[in-house]
Amino acid sequence: MAVSLKSPAEVDGMRRAGRVVAEVLALVESELRPGVSTAHLDALAEAHIRRSGAVPSFKGYPGANPRRPFPASICISIDAEIVHGIPGERTIRSGQVVSIDAGAIVDGWHGDAARTFFIGEPPEPVRSLIETTRLAMMAGIAAAQPGNHIGDIGAAVEDVARPMGYGVIRQFVGHGIGRAMHEDPQVPNYRTGQAGRRIEPGLCLAIEPMFTLGSYEAMMLPDDWTIVTRDGSLAAHFEHSITITEHGPEILTTV
Ligand code: MG
Repeated sequence: MAVSLKSPAEVDGMRRAGRVVAEVLALVESELRPGVSTAHLDALAEAHIRRSGAVPSFKGYPGANPRRPFPASICISIDAEIVHGIPGERTIRSGQVVSIDAGAIVDGWHGDAARTFFIGEPPEPVRSLIETTRLAMMAGIAAAQPGNHIGDIGAAVEDVARPMGYGVIRQFVGHGIGRAMHEDPQVPNYRTGQAGRRIEPGLCLAIEPMFTLGSYEAMMLPDDWTIVTRDGSLAAHFEHSITITEHGPEILTTV
């Protein structure tokens, strides 16, 4: 797929979609506590998306099994689950690492963002994993300057993970975003040995590092969606949708 550069008016549509996604994450965070069901969090998210005149982009999204599109409006991935966890009867418990990923479409424009939370007071290694993943996302965003290349983003993310010894998930990467949730180019979170395309104004990207306390190896559960660490180690995931302006990156998924 060709990379699409957005006009200023189109970027404005992207901002509106990004704002709805940011509101959803803030709403879910405010309700995230021991005993709350993941289905309830999903219902709150979907209600907010629809109330905003938006459409939940994850719901019905096709996956590995054509007979099992994603059944919910947000992904809730717990502990060793990296991404694509399905909300349902499971309840949130104290001591869990909970990653929330949300997507919404406003007037045809997509927003996509994710955050990881700890329920309660995290042990230091887990606090550090979560905070470092967030910082790596911010480093990746800071590297998304006009004139740089896509490979500079992955290098910046990898450089934050490496001193900590974290596993950097390779099977899932960031992506272009716009009229579709996943557009070209792919945005790996590690050095691929290739510079990749040039970053220029109007490019919109989702930057989303996923780190683990163990290996980078991941596998899918039999539900055809949930991606977990193969070694059972804890995982964290942060994501922002951004646009590139002449002056540098601008975060779209913010309130
Ligand atoms: Mg994404």
